[in-house]
Amino acid sequence: MGRGSETRSGREKDPKMLTCRDVIEDFLADYVEGTLSFGVRVKVKLHLLLCRACMAYLQTYKKSRDLFGQASQVEMPEEMKAILRRFLLGHLPKKTP
Ligand SMILES: [Zn+2]
Repeated sequence: MGRGSETRSGREKDPKMLTCRDVIEDFLADYVEGTLSFGVRVKVKLHLLLCRACMAYLQTYKKSRDLFGQASQVEMPEEMKAILRRFLLGHLPKKTP
């Protein structure tokens, strides 16, 4: 068990490359906000180009950020309204009639 299944993950972490954890937990929000230093920004961008999972996460992050940031200004498609409403309703405290 274990033999051969971890041919790559056992390698030492390359200091030049960020891990998915680094990107998502530490840098993604700042990357989207544009507040990272140039050097870090390049590293994050490089990781995103190579990593589909993080790229997908970035898209989702941006979308939901835009959605909630501009919800009052932009007209949403009915489908999205329904989804949002269901989401919001699900989080509302239940009132007793
Ligand atoms: Zn990644």
